Amino acid sequence: MGLEMYVTETPTFTTPDYRTRYVTPCVSDRKDPMDFEWYRGTGIDPQRHPLAPVIRFGACQNCESANVLVIAAQHNVHRMSGDVYYDYELSCNDCNRFTRVSFAGND
Ligand SMILES: [Zn+2]
Repeated sequence: MGLEMYVTETPTFTTPDYRTRYVTPCVSDRKDPMDFEWYRGTGIDPQRHPLAPVIRFGACQNCESANVLVIAAQHNVHRMSGDVYYDYELSCNDCNRFTRVSFAGND
């Protein structure tokens, strides 16, 4: 699988009304410690995201701008195989498109 990237008009990993649905830039939605932990919010600078140490957030795949906010992200390691999986979504302040990225480390 590797790395997959798509540019979209509306968000995929969060809700279209994320700008008003959330009151903070980035918050964990984890309720059960066994669940995947997704961070969602109104959008946060990639370098300030809690997952920045483990995800190298990219630029907008539509216009290559680095003026982006992370609006959704999750990172997990498979308990048995140790494979890394992550997903994230960017909103672009320049072209207003969304970039969704999925990584599966089981190549
Ligand atoms: Zn862009």
